[in-house]
Amino acid sequence: MSRHRRSLGDYRWDGVELRDYKPAGTHFRGITRQVLFDGPGGLGAQLRYFEIAPGGHSTLERHRHPHAVMVLRGRGRALAGDRIVDLAPFDLLEIGPDEWHQFRADDEPLGFLCLVDCERDRPVRPGPADLERLRRDPRIAAFIRV
Ligand code: MN
Repeated sequence: MSRHRRSLGDYRWDGVELRDYKPAGTHFRGITRQVLFDGPGGLGAQLRYFEIAPGGHSTLERHRHPHAVMVLRGRGRALAGDRIVDLAPFDLLEIGPDEWHQFRADDEPLGFLCLVDCERDRPVRPGPADLERLRRDPRIAAFIRV
């Protein structure tokens, strides 16, 4: 069954609800979620649009399922495994299975599409031993927010 949702501009789409990123928590800041596609026609994939406000960040987490990300607006940085990458519009970023990752916006909103499997494991946050390992790299120590 086909469906056409019109762009409303300003990174909103007709009939797509603007949702909380996750249930309330202190491990993220200034981030919204819109589910653009949810397994359409049995495709098995979800496409979400996340937007992080200036100075905000996503949860530092890892999980078995991968992410495929395309930046649509703004500037920011991401921890992806053991690297910190700069992000700009239309950049593509893959997060592999079990890689630690976190997104941060700079001084403008960072908006990106994120493709995931509909059936996926739950994210895990770092414990003290994980944080100690991550913080051995001073660039990662300075970057992460928990
Ligand atoms: Mn994730």
